[in-house]
Amino acid sequence: MRRYESWGRFPRATHAAIIPVTWRSESPPFADLDTSVLPFAYGRSYGDSCLNDGGALLDVAPLKRFIAFDHVNGTLRCEAGVTLAEILDLVVPRGWFPPVVPGTKWVSVGGAIANDIHGKNHHVAGTFGCHVTCFELLRSSGERVLCSPEENAGLFQATIGGLGLTGLILWAEIRLKQIPGASIFMERIRFGGLEEFLELSASDTDHEYTVAWVDCLARRRRLGRGLFMRGDHAQPRRPTALRPATTPSRLSVPFDLPSALLNPLTVSAFNMVYYWRQLRAKTRKLVPYDPFFFPLDGIHDWNRLYGRPGFLQYQCVVPDEGARGPIRTILERISRAREASFLAVLKRFGSVPSPGLLSFPRPGITLALDVRYRGAPTLRLLDDLDEVVRAAGGAVYPAKDARMSADSFRRYFPAWETFAAYVDPQFSSSFWRRVQAA
Ligand SMILES: Cc1cc2nc3c(=O)[nH]c(=O)nc-3n(C[C@H](O)[C@H](O)[C@H](O)COP(=O)(O)OP(=O)(O)OC[C@H]3O[C@@H](n4cnc5c(N)ncnc54)[C@H](O)[C@@H]3O)c2cc1C
Repeated sequence: MRRYESWGRFPRATHAAIIPVTWRSESPPFADLDTSVLPFAYGRSYGDSCLNDGGALLDVAPLKRFIAFDHVNGTLRCEAGVTLAEILDLVVPRGWFPPVVPGTKWVSVGGAIANDIHGKNHHVAGTFGCHVTCFELLRSSGERVLCSPEENAGLFQATIGGLGLTGLILWAEIRLKQIPGASIFMERIRFGGLEEFLELSASDTDHEYTVAWVDCLARRRRLGRGLFMRGDHAQPRRPTALRPATTPSRLSVPFDLPSALLNPLTVSAFNMVYYWRQLRAKTRKLVPYDPFFFPLDGIHDWNRLYGRPGFLQYQCVVPDEGARGPIRTILERISRAREASFLAVLKRFGSVPSPGLLSFPRPGITLALDVRYRGAPTLRLLDDLDEVVRAAGGAVYPAKDARMSADSFRRYFPAWETFAAYVDPQFSSSFWRRVQAA
């Protein structure tokens, strides 16, 4: 059954109507609605930016058609509800790859644009929006606007990273990346702390994809220890090497687990085992692209591990210069609060400019971690982290947020006023109302 909730399942929302959008030639009945609307694809956003409590959702999942694929030059035009999983199945056998993929392939092209998502190759490729050549936007007035860097450029920049607030993206065209094979040559390096991570991430430029898992319950000397992964598309060893690497997942979490199951003891135990999973300091191997890019997709509905109350993800970025201090402080606070999850990620963002007015990625170190929702103490802890990020001149990612204040939002995204002028008068979201509150 289709669920209209976000990935963290916090906060909950009640929607006045769900309106399926099936044909790109037709318009939803905007004029007949007395509520605001928001596009909704697959709810892989963690917080409330994909929710519209009290309003209507435009369900774009039926917009699933490919329109054109130029497999000589590597451009793909498709409807906005097509997932990256479907694109991979189509383009990998022909030697192409999406230009940017996040940690799950179950996201739509519309969602990837609206959050201007980033991947493990941000330091060389920038965000997803950097590779969008054009899209068609339907406004609630019924107007259809073709947007590209040259045509309606203001609306183009507002819609990339625009959180679904500027209108409904019907279809988009993206530039793909040519690959020699469906495998990734991967190196995994154990590091003992934050300093070592910073040194390793300086080698980013030699590899197309880099990311690190970090044990955020480790303390003192071990603070910030983890595993650094780097990889590159590999040359094929045999002619069949361009097959998609999809292996059907057999694991799933069938119901909400008791939330007490994830406690500092169980998470510490998991982290210890994960950290020592490789006894050698460095391993190298050829792996299929699926487990390299989307390790969590192997377990369906893993968000249920956090139980009924749900969880929040906190992703921040702090500028490169002086990043060490704030990242250390955040890790210390998380570790001291004994709150953190087993899913924590560190990465260096590069300097390719993000095209969206509200795009989150900017040069610096980004840290993402899950926190079980335990009410006021959880919110207090995250407010505390916001203070560190604000003081460092950083930002928090709206796609993963469910609680940042209006004041923080305005500091993180100074172009918000320019952006607000492009918001469609009938479009809104739970996130947008919160960060617009006086
Ligand atoms: C396991 C996991 C790993 C992740 N890893 C990363 C990562 O590495 N990097 C990263 O950047 N993100 C990451 N994310 C977040 C995810 O990539 C984004 O939230 C993505 O935008 C979700 O896409 P979706 O199709 O599910 O859209 P939804 O979550 O349904 O919607 C997202 C936003 O897009 C808007 N939208 C959707 N369709 C349209 C449309 N047709 N027209 C206009 N607006 C639209 C919605 O209104 C909403 O504001 C991860 C999420 C998960 C669950």
